[in-house]
Amino acid sequence: MIDVAIAGAGIVGASVAYWLTRLEPSRSVLLIERDRSFAQASSSLSASSIRQQFSSAVNIQMSLFGVQFLREMEIALEERGYLYLGAAKPLRTLHELQKANGADVALLGADELAKRFPWLNVADIELGSLGLSGEGWFDGPALHAAVLRKARSQGAKLIEGDVKGIELEKKSARKKSVRALRLADGSTIECRHAVNAAGPWARTLAAAADIGLPVHARRRTVFVLSCPQPLPDCPLVIDPGGFWFRPEGRHFIAGTVPSPDADDLPLEPNFAEFDEALWSRMARRVPAFEALRVERAWAGYYEMNLFDHNAILGAHPSLPNLWFANGFSGHGMQHAPAAGRGIAELILNGKFESLDLSPLGFERLLSGRPLREANVIG
Ligand SMILES: Cc1cc2nc3c(=O)[nH]c(=O)nc-3n(C[C@H](O)[C@H](O)[C@H](O)COP(=O)(O)OP(=O)(O)OC[C@H]3O[C@@H](n4cnc5c(N)ncnc54)[C@H](O)[C@@H]3O)c2cc1C
Repeated sequence: MIDVAIAGAGIVGASVAYWLTRLEPSRSVLLIERDRSFAQASSSLSASSIRQQFSSAVNIQMSLFGVQFLREMEIALEERGYLYLGAAKPLRTLHELQKANGADVALLGADELAKRFPWLNVADIELGSLGLSGEGWFDGPALHAAVLRKARSQGAKLIEGDVKGIELEKKSARKKSVRALRLADGSTIECRHAVNAAGPWARTLAAAADIGLPVHARRRTVFVLSCPQPLPDCPLVIDPGGFWFRPEGRHFIAGTVPSPDADDLPLEPNFAEFDEALWSRMARRVPAFEALRVERAWAGYYEMNLFDHNAILGAHPSLPNLWFANGFSGHGMQHAPAAGRGIAELILNGKFESLDLSPLGFERLLSGRPLREANVIG
């Protein structure tokens, strides 16, 4: 009998395994991963950026811990900030919340923006919110590999397997518990706890335990672009028109929200998005982008929680030993360290001990009280 069986070994599953084995090395922890190349995993296809500029306190706190964790793991962080552009009123409201939660952010008026970023068109911009420290981008696959390696060196085991079924046993009229996970090869793994860390495929796994999870795989294309003119001090820019861009080495990367935004599209980049939805808007914001050239592109799935665009962390009340760590909606690389620690604390001690992540619990879905995240990117 395994103590904790984790389905999915992307950054979230790896982080749960890392924290379980760090906090209590004697527990047996098994990661079950169906594709050890991680070719389609979001953790391999991410833009791997980190920010404190969220609209909910719990997300800000998770990101602050994410930065601390990156430093602890010695993952290089390009600390160049996010720049949110927009109207004054909403940015001021968010600024208050972010400052109160310890984010190092500053508001810049249009004049200050034009002075600091002379390549930026601020004609229609009232205010910008810039992260001064603890925001930027990092090597996501390096973080994933490091967390997985450390989890294994602390005692977690990793096997290849496709979890197809969840065997339940009845505990009372209203409660069940997981007894075992069933793999595609017909074998079963008996466990005291199971964790759904299946990323964009989490809904299918939850359905195997008769639980509805509003997490949908939504394709996002990331374009790698070259621009002949350099943009000094360019941060990760979030445009009010619904697109983003940032430097990546000597190039830029950029993306937008596709329309329509269907489920489960094949993981091939949609080049039409650049011509139809991105290029002219980018060139309006940064005139030097007139001369942009698409070098290449890739596509990955956002594991989008359609209920409120926030992670779902914890157990469903009717099934106390099946733990969910899903639905990060495009911010799971930066939140995986805090989420993994939180789930490990729940399993080991029955409660959150370091950071109170209960606002992200399953209960809000059942009672219809969304924790809306306003700052969802793409
Ligand atoms: C284009 C793009 C840009 C992004 N940018 C950012 C960003 O800037 N910052 C940020 O923080 N986040 C970003 N994200 C989001 C982030 O990458 C994800 O939130 C995070 O990687 C999710 O990790 P995961 O471990 O839950 O999922 P995954 O990495 O997808 O891992 C899930 C794993 O589960 C396995 N699996 C699934 N079902 C089963 C099963 N039944 N049995 C066994 N194994 C199974 C899969 O093979 C997969 O390896 C971005 C995502 C994309 C696609």
